[in-house]
Amino acid sequence: MSIEAKNISKTFGSFTALNDVSIQFPSGKLVALLGPSGSGKTTLLRIIAGLEVADKGSVYFEGEHATERSAKDRRVGFVFQHYALFRHMSVFENVAFGLNVKPRETRPSKEEIHERVMKLLKLVQLDWLADRRPSQLSGGQRQRVALARALAVEPKVLLLDEPFGALDAKVRKELRRWLRRLHDEIHVTSIFVTHDVDEALEVADEIVVMNAGRIEQIGTPDRVYEHPANSFVYHFLGNVNLFHTRIHDGQAHFANQTFDVQADSGAALVHARPHDIELSREETGGGWMRACIRYVHAIGPLVRIELIQADNQQIIEAELSRERYAEQRFATGEMVSVRPRQVKVFPAGPAAGDYSI
Ligand code: ADP
Ligand code: MG
Repeated sequence: MSIEAKNISKTFGSFTALNDVSIQFPSGKLVALLGPSGSGKTTLLRIIAGLEVADKGSVYFEGEHATERSAKDRRVGFVFQHYALFRHMSVFENVAFGLNVKPRETRPSKEEIHERVMKLLKLVQLDWLADRRPSQLSGGQRQRVALARALAVEPKVLLLDEPFGALDAKVRKELRRWLRRLHDEIHVTSIFVTHDVDEALEVADEIVVMNAGRIEQIGTPDRVYEHPANSFVYHFLGNVNLFHTRIHDGQAHFANQTFDVQADSGAALVHARPHDIELSREETGGGWMRACIRYVHAIGPLVRIELIQADNQQIIEAELSRERYAEQRFATGEMVSVRPRQVKVFPAGPAAGDYSI
């Protein structure tokens, strides 16, 4: 089932939580709403679910106006960060709940319910724990039960709001892979809210980057990562080094290169990822900057090097592979040449380069 949200606005008192948001969710896809805390992700999800009413705008399910439909009529399955399972019920009973409470006319038979619940528990790989109580499960297992429970009533849409947010990092990683595989099997239209960039990049077919009640960019993980639409998206998706330059006639110059910029004049900010910063002892020519190594942090698969630029005292962060570091053995206090291998240039807007995420 495809979903469309059109020109959605929502305020709480004088605070604008969503500001004219329009977006289409294609049928059968897993889409991530990604953005910092407070950017309006949950509000948008709740409006789609029918749990919250928008001040302006409409929601369409399969092209049909859904704004008047209740949450129940929308056939939406929900999984929250803290999806309290019924403590006094077994895993089986929890998953069967939505089916057992259906009105007699639409309720499947006992045998059918049993079959469907066991099938779902197999799908989430918990059939062997059907008789357990939620308190006897790990956090990750509980969220899988919550997911099976949401799927039991055959929702047309699955909405997940930071479903792995309360779990520790290792379990989160396992579950996100597992969710990806599950979605590949069942293909129910799913919207997944997260503030975790890695999670969104790994799990989603498409990513919607949100900020302060607006959509900054929509695209595949690859597209959004490789071609961020603006400085905000660039900042949100990873660490960043900023260099200053100016725009003349729609072009900015930096490190012997020319870039087209979406502005005629003014200041521009050159963005470079730490892993795209090249260090050299030999190079001194055009495009290279001189910098002094201030700190080397050599724990883990990447070696992080902090440098301070000679001419303007600006800090630069570089990340090198262990192999590269082992070859060169850059040391604290050393003067080296530095050059970003790959950059993105954006006009310096009022708040560009000022994102504290
Ligand atoms: P996110 O899920 O991206 O963290 P939310 O959609 O939960 O963001 O919230 C967006 C903003 O709206 C937040 O600043 C939050 O404080 C505010 N907000 C959300 N729900 C309410 C509410 N019921 N009453 C008042 N403010 C709210
Ligand atoms: Mg939220």
